Amino acid sequence: MTTRRGLRAAIIAVAYAAFIALIVAACSPPPAPPLIGPARAEWTPFVTDDQGRAVRWEDCTIEVSFRGDLGGDLATAIAIIQPAFQIPIVIAGPTTHVPQRADLSGPHEVVVALVAPGESTLEQPGIAGMASTNLDRSIAGAQWRYIRGGAIVMDTVRPGPQRVRVLTHELGHVLGLGHVNSPGEIMAATPTRDGLGDGDRQGLAATGVRVC
Ligand SMILES: [Zn+2]
Repeated sequence: MTTRRGLRAAIIAVAYAAFIALIVAACSPPPAPPLIGPARAEWTPFVTDDQGRAVRWEDCTIEVSFRGDLGGDLATAIAIIQPAFQIPIVIAGPTTHVPQRADLSGPHEVVVALVAPGESTLEQPGIAGMASTNLDRSIAGAQWRYIRGGAIVMDTVRPGPQRVRVLTHELGHVLGLGHVNSPGEIMAATPTRDGLGDGDRQGLAATGVRVC
């Protein structure tokens, strides 16, 4: 829940940066260490149980339905997350369900919905995306709580890379990740990166256990 806003360009930027670095290395003394080190890998749970443990998914597949025209952005966001998450995430099809705070569940475990302002009690004005989870503590009488489903609502996010970033972040919440301070992770409260950071990957590896 945050405010958010081409490969060739990235390659050119990296190549250009490497070129500049070579010039700087050849012409200058070594630079002083930066005041802030490289972003460290970091993740936090979205929800913790009574013992402070990360609440996680245990499932065979996670089916996602969508409301509204998300183009290929949902599939792109899932493709970014999937290599780090053990449980296969499958787009099951469209739905007309508008998730509400008191009724997240749609026809499948996760629903991603484009909503108009005021249409969902999950949606907040000026917030690009919101995620919430359904929890279950009844599995075999265990105290552990599992994530059993979730919902994401979005209103005014522009399609394309910005929406992919928001979707990736919100899917991170639904899959069990909370916010971190490190700007190097997609789970920063206001993510500025595309793709996953090391902390995101570590977190996703911990919050998804495939059980079939
Ligand atoms: Zn968030």
